[in-house]
Amino acid sequence: MSTENNEPIKTICPYCGVGCGIKVRPGDMRFMPWADAPVNEGSICIKGGAATEVVEHEDRLTDPLIKEDGEFREASWDEAYSYIVEEMERIHDDYGPDGMGFFSSSKTMNEENYLLQKLARRYGTNQIDNCTRMCHASTVWALRTSLGAGAMTNSMADLEEKADVFWIQGANPGEQHPIANSQYFRQAVLEGATVIQVDPHANKTTRSFDIEGTERHMHLQNEPGTDIPLLNVVIKTILEKHEENPDEGWIDEAFIEERTQGFDHLKETLSDFVKAEAAEQCGVPLEDIERAAEKYAMANNSAIFTGMGMSQHTCGVDNVQNEINLALITGNLGRPGTGVNPLRGQNNVQGACDVGAMPNVLPGYQLVDDDEARESVEDVWGFEIPPEPGLTNVEISHAAGDTVHGLYIMGENPVMSEPDGNRVEERIKDLEFLCVQDIFMTETAKYADVILPATTWAERGGTVTNTDRRVQRMRGAGKVHETTKHDLDILCEVGTRLFGEGFDFDGPEDVFEELRQVCPDYHGMTYDALGETGIHWPCKEPGDEGDSFLYEDGFTTDSGYGQIEGVRHQSPAEVPDEEYPLILTTGRLEEHYNTGTMSRRSPTLKRQHPENFVDIHPNDADRYGIEDGDTVKLRSRRGEIEVKVQVTEAIKEGSIWTTPHFAAASANRLTNDVLDERAKIPEYKAAAAEIEVD
Ligand code: SF4
Repeated sequence: MSTENNEPIKTICPYCGVGCGIKVRPGDMRFMPWADAPVNEGSICIKGGAATEVVEHEDRLTDPLIKEDGEFREASWDEAYSYIVEEMERIHDDYGPDGMGFFSSSKTMNEENYLLQKLARRYGTNQIDNCTRMCHASTVWALRTSLGAGAMTNSMADLEEKADVFWIQGANPGEQHPIANSQYFRQAVLEGATVIQVDPHANKTTRSFDIEGTERHMHLQNEPGTDIPLLNVVIKTILEKHEENPDEGWIDEAFIEERTQGFDHLKETLSDFVKAEAAEQCGVPLEDIERAAEKYAMANNSAIFTGMGMSQHTCGVDNVQNEINLALITGNLGRPGTGVNPLRGQNNVQGACDVGAMPNVLPGYQLVDDDEARESVEDVWGFEIPPEPGLTNVEISHAAGDTVHGLYIMGENPVMSEPDGNRVEERIKDLEFLCVQDIFMTETAKYADVILPATTWAERGGTVTNTDRRVQRMRGAGKVHETTKHDLDILCEVGTRLFGEGFDFDGPEDVFEELRQVCPDYHGMTYDALGETGIHWPCKEPGDEGDSFLYEDGFTTDSGYGQIEGVRHQSPAEVPDEEYPLILTTGRLEEHYNTGTMSRRSPTLKRQHPENFVDIHPNDADRYGIEDGDTVKLRSRRGEIEVKVQVTEAIKEGSIWTTPHFAAASANRLTNDVLDERAKIPEYKAAAAEIEVD
């Protein structure tokens, strides 16, 4: 291992979007706490504490691999690069630039995402996407369209200090963002705040607020796919109460008048809406929803937190729009302790989007089909950018072997992460050329023609942007295997060999200097200014300290107004029927991470949950004649998996819940790949399913 000294380096946990600071000791790559880290102040969850376990793992890829006669053989870097360039040029000649697709990753850093999207665009295609498509594409769409920026409106610290009510819908911070949950939300509840949780599944978040002696937690356990009617009951209750008692402050009339558009559309949409029918459809007592509405509307400051339970639906954009409606009519935006706040998944999912690793936007969310925006980026890059948005990652997988013939994947595992994994696997086999850049052999990499062994998060430096827009530096503790390469260096070499110029950078800071020229919200940042605390974007000029909350001086939409738009219930694309009588919904565990590439190799995390399971309500278990611990087959129209049964009232009768983490039995063999029309996010959260008992 090449390290200069054993002084622990300060870096950022590689898992979730909270962005906790940790230390890594060079030499033995040991985890050490960073006591005064800006976000977590030394606290750490089980994943963060175990994060270094995979860095020296025996499964690490150490040399480039090229497939020959169906078997991988070791190759030199020079041979691997030559092969990649030859194949990418052949595909360009045979099919044009859109014959290739590029998958970037929110597991990788801003500089690496920036460079891969630049490489795709220099190749001549906008077919570049990252895994935010699968988690919060709909949230980003709704927030950008209706408020101006596709990001958390507030920051965690500002919310802990100022919010009186936390409305958490379709998010499970107790498992997915544990330090945010314990350090910010739970602390606020202990000090008097109220949590209203809307979720079909009772989980660690539910249990974490069950605090003896307080009545400050409500769990509205709705049926999967009923978030719009539930919020419509909330909104209609607020509107009715305002009619009855206009002076009580149920809505913020001045805010609506001065800062929003579309209020009449919302009222019109709800004019014939019947609350009692909707509450029954949600499976939640009407009086509970009304009580929650009162708590949200009558608090001084109420903050909404939203997660993948809202975004991963065919109506994902409308789900989030209804949260925006609620915040806008009550004036809960543009000041501390309020807002609509997506809890982002991976440690750089916000940054991967910010720097343009998406098919429709350039760095800084500048639309690729906006001539002026494109030209301003072209002036810096020195080449023409194609003007048409490209396919999204799920669309690219569907087009594999049809219009897409080559795929370059950096740090992604679509065979496990995308819905209908069996179909994705078949499609990927049809590619003429697949290049995967990763740290381990994955379920996708085994189909590659060439694999490039990259360094891990702990070995290299760069920046990541956490869930509340804080850009922070990661620092490298040195390579474990000299034969591996940093993602950034690989992309520089591939880009230089393909295009001759535009990819010759002297490390991540050099890339960041170019990035800040084309990304207006990052323009004022430098590595020096980021220091150890990081900076929240927007930071438009050097010296700006960044904004901990957005929209104090108005919304940043084209009109300058916050957009209200009434929405109506839409059923999931698949509803239960005779053959598939159950609703399958999915979620993640605290101890594992997404496709499990890292967490399944971590002894500490694997010990907690070595295999998948399914939650089944006791009445359904009785009906099928199954007991806790039995093994059953779960089937959907797309596949089947075998899992252990956990009989529990955590899930409602008629629904079942399982996870995507385990290769042997991944939920994504069953999930539906139907997409939200606008944001193209798949409907992971609702599919028709059946249980088969031997
Ligand atoms: Fe890492 Fe998230 Fe846990 Fe913090 S809360 S230690 S960022 S996984």
